[in-house]
Amino acid sequence: MTESPAGAHPDEPHRQGLAQRLNWLRAGVLGANDGIVSTAAVVVGVAGATSEVGPVLIAGLAALVGGAISMALGEYVSVSSQRDSEHALIQKERRELAEDPDAELAELIGLYEAQGLSRDTATRVATELTASDALKAHLAVELNIDAEDVVSPWAAAIASAVAFTVGAILPMLTILLAPVEVRVPLTFVAVLVALAVTGYLAAWIGGARRGRAILRTVIGGALALGATYAVGALFGVAAG
Ligand SMILES: [Zn+2]
Repeated sequence: MTESPAGAHPDEPHRQGLAQRLNWLRAGVLGANDGIVSTAAVVVGVAGATSEVGPVLIAGLAALVGGAISMALGEYVSVSSQRDSEHALIQKERRELAEDPDAELAELIGLYEAQGLSRDTATRVATELTASDALKAHLAVELNIDAEDVVSPWAAAIASAVAFTVGAILPMLTILLAPVEVRVPLTFVAVLVALAVTGYLAAWIGGARRGRAILRTVIGGALALGATYAVGALFGVAAG
């Protein structure tokens, strides 16, 4: 999906590095998207039940803190287990290379042939790569892993908590700063515009159709806000 251009300068970041940066960007956009939708849904729901500002602020803060922690935990767990399995694969490959280098060289030659190289070229490529960094060559071709690119679970956890918080701040500020009579419609508008932006970014990163992605995020957000506002208004009236 991310081809390096022909004739790229040798110092250019290599493919995996770029793919990884795009992964970070994607995770950031999705985290912000979650922060926008879930916090907006909570504050709009409470605003449907009461015209006061205090409860909206408290509910919004609780949604922000709870959501950010939950995102961080989820990300930590998922990246940890991914990293564990990558480490296990790296160990296994390292052991195989130490125990049976000939079979591993033959395997590498076969993999390059399967990619379209002639037997001679595959043998030369595999032999030269084995001489320089056998483990790296095997990980790249067999497993598509770069041992230096393994993500830190802590970094992933903090990044997604920050992304969520950034997203959550938008509906919080809109609903708290807007005049009470128009705070709900204004929050709707602010959230839908922000979702159009995150939908566009997500599609751009993933190389998908932009119009469709924007429509999906915006409709999803509108449904979430509409549902919680209805719940708030219904139960607010019943309770008040
Ligand atoms: Zn191997």
